[in-house]
Amino acid sequence: MTLDLIARRNALRFPHKPAIVFGERSQTWLELDGRVDRVANALRACGFARGEFVAILLSNCPEFIELYLGIARAGLVALPLNYRLTPAELAQILGHARPSLLVVGAEFVDTARELETLLPGLQQPWMVGGGTLAGAKRYEQAVQDAAAGPLDSPAGEDDTFAVFFTSGTTGLPKGAMVSHRNLEANAFNQFVADGSRGDDINLVSTPLYHMGAVFMGVTYMMLGCTQVIIERFEPAAWLTAVRRHRVTVALLVPTMINAAVNHADLAVSPLSSLRLVFYGGGPMPPAVLQRALDRLRCGFTQGYGLTETLEATFLVAADHVPDGSAQQQKRLASAGREAVGAEVRVVGADGRDVATGEVGEVLVRSHSVISGYWGMPDETAKALRDGWFHTGDLGYLDDERYLFLVDRLKDMVVSGGVNIYTKEVESVLYDHPAILEAAVVGLPDDEWGEVVTAAVVLRPGMSASTGELIEHCRRSLASYKKPRAVVFLDELPKNPSGKILKRELRRLLGSGAGVAWRGV
Ligand code: ATP
Repeated sequence: MTLDLIARRNALRFPHKPAIVFGERSQTWLELDGRVDRVANALRACGFARGEFVAILLSNCPEFIELYLGIARAGLVALPLNYRLTPAELAQILGHARPSLLVVGAEFVDTARELETLLPGLQQPWMVGGGTLAGAKRYEQAVQDAAAGPLDSPAGEDDTFAVFFTSGTTGLPKGAMVSHRNLEANAFNQFVADGSRGDDINLVSTPLYHMGAVFMGVTYMMLGCTQVIIERFEPAAWLTAVRRHRVTVALLVPTMINAAVNHADLAVSPLSSLRLVFYGGGPMPPAVLQRALDRLRCGFTQGYGLTETLEATFLVAADHVPDGSAQQQKRLASAGREAVGAEVRVVGADGRDVATGEVGEVLVRSHSVISGYWGMPDETAKALRDGWFHTGDLGYLDDERYLFLVDRLKDMVVSGGVNIYTKEVESVLYDHPAILEAAVVGLPDDEWGEVVTAAVVLRPGMSASTGELIEHCRRSLASYKKPRAVVFLDELPKNPSGKILKRELRRLLGSGAGVAWRGV
């Protein structure tokens, strides 16, 4: 099915149930489906041909969801944009993808102005909210003026629903073409892993331009669940929203879980409604997971995947329940097992499967894997070979097929010709009581090629010396893996989804600007 049908079907099944709650605003499924028709009619009236792009530059709000669905119903393709990118970076993506329309939030009016200068061919944008931009059309007016009659999407389920651009660590950002079927297949896998229920209430706090919020929303919207949206993750706002709206499920990345469980508010009263925290998107340090298990006292499911693959493996709630065995404790450090509809392999540099327990590159094959990158056949051919997606993640499978991720290929440190997995060093650092956050990167070094360097944020009011932290690592790790230097920062660079940006960290530490170096 095409994803706009989620709203159509829920309008028939649960017409008066809230579909979206945002601050004081609330919209039923019937109202949402009506808005989706109007958005689709407004877009169709522009005369765009099937498959053309509509770019979206918005922070989290109900309009974002109705746009995703309305664009799909009009047979068009959504192009969600990362609002943290600079106008020049956005112009690079827009210049490549050439969308027929840009829908922009009033909060990004200055960016839109710069984009008009950088991309003279760009059609006048539609503006959500109250900003003024010469020539821009008011989104609300366009929707109100549009016909209300129901439309059927001309798209098929293998058509692209949205193109998500990756961050572009290596040159031009790559646009992952995610189809309706990819998201539907992922939802089926997630239903099984999560035990998702129709009466769940999902809290959306990660940015809606990112795949995480989208797949989680699609999964729970397919069941008719209410979506509570907050503009952005901030621990106090997140905790308040869970309590106020009796939220039962939420997706968080590890850094967000860490921030939420360390928030003083949580000590005041527990979150009684919360059934399940879904986490992933980056390595979860065992110490942070343990603290979350102790303090949130709800179920946990971990998902592992990329924008390009969606969720390939799950560590399900039952895996998180202590059974007194060392095996169960060990599994908590894994990314779980293959989703019911996915296959995972681990291969060596020669492309052959490695033995159980041996580290290699993780490959994924499933109906949730994309068919390719938009307009980049060479990149597609590199990533997708014989139907297997090459993730660029390093890991191993144990004898029960639990997948243990050790690092991203591009983050692994090679020091003196030896591979060092940054995740392993980070996990040890998180065990230190004074450490709130930690990230490890390799910095160029004439003698060693790269040297292990740790960036840490200390808990308020606590202290730790470089020597103490290095000694702490040396006690748990082979000496060659211990950091050669520790940098103390007030915060780690993160993207709006809360992921630590190692690329930016390497740049920051490499330049030495504004950082407190205490090497040995
Ligand atoms: P880019 O790939 O463009 O740098 P990104 O990191 O935001 O940006 P995503 O597709 O969102 O791209 O992230 C995928 C990566 O996140 C995976 O390759 C993996 O390294 C990491 N990841 C995802 N889930 C997990 C998990 N459960 N445990 C550890 N790492 C994970």
